Amino acid sequence: MAFYDSHCHLDPMRYGEDLPQVIARARSAGVTKMTVIGTRAADSEAAADLAGREPGLVSAAGIHPNDVAEIPADEWDRVVRLLSTGRVRAVGETGLDWFRDFAPRELQRDFFDRHLRLAQGLGLPVVIHTRESIRDTLDMLHDALRRGPLVPVLHSFTGTPAEAAEAIAMGCYLGFAGMVTFRSAGDLREVAKTVPLDRLLIETDSPFLSPEPFRGRRNEPAHVIHTARCLAIARGEPLEKLAAATTANAERVFSNG
Ligand SMILES: [Zn+2]
Repeated sequence: MAFYDSHCHLDPMRYGEDLPQVIARARSAGVTKMTVIGTRAADSEAAADLAGREPGLVSAAGIHPNDVAEIPADEWDRVVRLLSTGRVRAVGETGLDWFRDFAPRELQRDFFDRHLRLAQGLGLPVVIHTRESIRDTLDMLHDALRRGPLVPVLHSFTGTPAEAAEAIAMGCYLGFAGMVTFRSAGDLREVAKTVPLDRLLIETDSPFLSPEPFRGRRNEPAHVIHTARCLAIARGEPLEKLAAATTANAERVFSNG
């Protein structure tokens, strides 16, 4: 059985010298594919370098909405330059975060819009962070889709069944992270049951959001299996089927087949 961690932040800044062992542990657990996600120019560049030398890994490049107020003037150009090399398979992560107020909302909207237009211009999928902002996120995606085609990934999805249905109708893929394994997350498991198998992704968001039984500790891609098993039980599907489908979905989105 092979698993695909569709969203992890694997870079030397977050893992230090441990990074090779983290990747080796993932592979020996069956997590043979990973999409390494950028949040700034530096980790996006590191992710592209890592993906360039590690089989099964691809990367995304973008600026996280919580960081857009503090970046230097040239940082957006660095991300655009990296994406224009063709070494990167997705734009992101980008999006809107109304839970934290690290950056003014208008600035977040401006950067989200830039990422969406860039993804559409390059024909790449876009990886989206949305926290207490799903209405505005979906509205901006509707606007983008009126301009042209786009494949959006809503990562670490925590919306309602109605929001999931709206996102699916507009062509989104929905990623579920370790939170879905928490005992208190019964509502989220109900939402996960409503997602068509061909739109479902699994992720760790490493080093954040460890699933049970690792809650509170540093997360790593090997742990995505716990999220997969929890989703398979909730949805009443064999783990083999869920692993195969979520791997095929991520391979299709990130051209990592
Ligand atoms: Zn992330």
